[in-house]
Amino acid sequence: MEYRLNQTEERFRREVHDWLVANLPEGWGSEARKAEGDPAGKVRFARWWQRRLFDGGWAGFSWPREYGGRGATPLEQLIFAEEYTRVGAPPMIDIGVGPGLVGPTLIHHGTAAQKARFLRKILTGEEMWCQGFSEPNAGSDLANCRTRAELRGDTFHVTGQKIWTSYARFADWCILVARTDVQAPKHKGLTFLLVDMTSPGIVIRPLVEMTGVAWFNEVFFDDVRVPHDLMVGQLHEGWTIAITTLAHERGGSAPHARLVGEMREVLDLARRLGRGGDGNARQRLAQTWLETEICRLLAWQFVSDLTRTGAPGPQGSYLKLFWSELDMRLKELAIELEGPYAMLERGAPGAIDGGRWQYEYLWSRAASIYAGTSEIQRNIIAQRVLGLPRG
Ligand SMILES: Cc1cc2nc3c(=O)[nH]c(=O)nc-3n(C[C@H](O)[C@H](O)[C@H](O)COP(=O)(O)OP(=O)(O)OC[C@H]3O[C@@H](n4cnc5c(N)ncnc54)[C@H](O)[C@@H]3O)c2cc1C
Repeated sequence: MEYRLNQTEERFRREVHDWLVANLPEGWGSEARKAEGDPAGKVRFARWWQRRLFDGGWAGFSWPREYGGRGATPLEQLIFAEEYTRVGAPPMIDIGVGPGLVGPTLIHHGTAAQKARFLRKILTGEEMWCQGFSEPNAGSDLANCRTRAELRGDTFHVTGQKIWTSYARFADWCILVARTDVQAPKHKGLTFLLVDMTSPGIVIRPLVEMTGVAWFNEVFFDDVRVPHDLMVGQLHEGWTIAITTLAHERGGSAPHARLVGEMREVLDLARRLGRGGDGNARQRLAQTWLETEICRLLAWQFVSDLTRTGAPGPQGSYLKLFWSELDMRLKELAIELEGPYAMLERGAPGAIDGGRWQYEYLWSRAASIYAGTSEIQRNIIAQRVLGLPRG
């Protein structure tokens, strides 16, 4: 494993850096973070920023060139993510479902017509997507999905409920996993559909998270019509397509980049609060800094393996488990450093850094749930990496 960049890679890093520095939106790029906006405002901004990335040739840059990407290697993606965070560019999570999940899924499994219809508008941010997978009784066990899609003639009729659907209120389209054969074993009989979110019969109800913000939604489908040509892959074989989507959701190779940046900000917080002389705080800071460094090395190892083998293996579960649990420890440390000020919520008068760390502490719980919970990652490591018997 080689952790240093060769000359070509270093040139690439420089190119990314220079473009970002020249194109950062106003207010970004310093350690001082922009105030968080309301969800609608953040989504508008994310779409605008996506367009700017597109114009610069950086949108979906891991996609093959024939579909508008740059065919970036896993290492280039890692370099991009590191540089992106280093210069303080805006997070891309708010627009991520389209470029990160839907695009790669359609590139693998979509028809020529679907690719022509959807891919470019994903890259430009013109069309935003949400992911309609989870249901009240189908989360970790996604194959338990009950939302029905009945094929009558050349139209599917969809009835059922999805839950935890991030961005559904803002999305133009939804990738939906629905049951088309109720007799078949649960992994069979599912079909993968592309659903226009303006279709009659769709009702969206926001769900407020413990942060106080409503990104999540419940989405109800009442006899929603979906034309047959918006089916991805074959009838009843949606599980294979969903697995491709999930592999991209779980396969992010550079989660450390954000954590490394946030660790620097937590160190800065400790200095500003005069906690440098506090032995306990110093121990915790040193420990967390070491863990952040371990996370960085795990990410590089993951990318190195991916480059060698061409496919993300179950080892990716180490990385997901490690970074998502570290994320929580890091945010817990930040609010511990604040002492009694940690009780002030975001936006409260006197809150340190506007209460940003309190918000992030609450939000950090999310990563141990989405893209496969920590328990599921441990199951994968136990069974598929360590070869332990099922409990
Ligand atoms: C921030 C965030 C955004 C999300 N966005 C979306 C979205 O846009 N679209 C979407 O479809 N979904 C989304 N989700 C939902 C997410 O995919 C599910 O929450 C996740 O799959 C877990 O499912 P669940 O909530 O039903 O929990 P369950 O699967 O019911 O699990 C409950 C608990 O049991 C544990 N558990 C379950 N099975 C096992 C097992 N076999 N062994 C050991 N322990 C087990 C879990 O680890 C967990 O602790 C989002 C979730 C979060 C937190």
